[in-house]
Amino acid sequence: MKIEDYVLSIPDFPEPGIVFRDVTSILQDADGLHLAVDLMQEKLEGIDFDLVVGPESRGFIFGVPIAYNMHKPFIPVRKEGKLPRETVSVEYELEYGTGVLEIHKDAIKPGQRVVIIDDLMATGGTNQAIINLVESLGATVVKTVFLMELKGLKGRDKLVGYDVESIIAYE
Ligand code: IMP
Repeated sequence: MKIEDYVLSIPDFPEPGIVFRDVTSILQDADGLHLAVDLMQEKLEGIDFDLVVGPESRGFIFGVPIAYNMHKPFIPVRKEGKLPRETVSVEYELEYGTGVLEIHKDAIKPGQRVVIIDDLMATGGTNQAIINLVESLGATVVKTVFLMELKGLKGRDKLVGYDVESIIAYE
């Protein structure tokens, strides 16, 4: 089966007119989970990087197995107030209003080369916010790999100049 075949698309969720691409339908199949991690990890072959960064919660699902397989550290990005040590934070735009993302200040050193892993790019706002966090610590984002991309929302317009790849692109 192709990776696309594992994704269930749910009409009118979470609100009328939205077609929600359900990541959990991949995860609940052992072959789907393997295929998703393997295909994302393949995009990092030959890339020189020091660590993987992934945002809660679905960035953790794919970021950790990839970091584990490639023997790299995994650094979580979390919503405000969840990380126990000193953090840097960034405000970003949500569908309604704004949110705050944080990362541990000591987790990334200046000059390090960072890969970002996440489940899905919609507007690209989350990825842009993570790039801001990483760069504020003096590190470089060398690549982002998404499992899915909703092309119609033009997330790539926010990420011009960055190396962004996805496994499944929906128009
Ligand atoms: P962005 O910041 O607009 O790119 O939003 C990215 C986040 O929105 C993703 O990490 C997803 O958790 C969530 N999201 C938006 N649309 C969908 C969808 O169709 N399926 C699953 N998650 C979605």
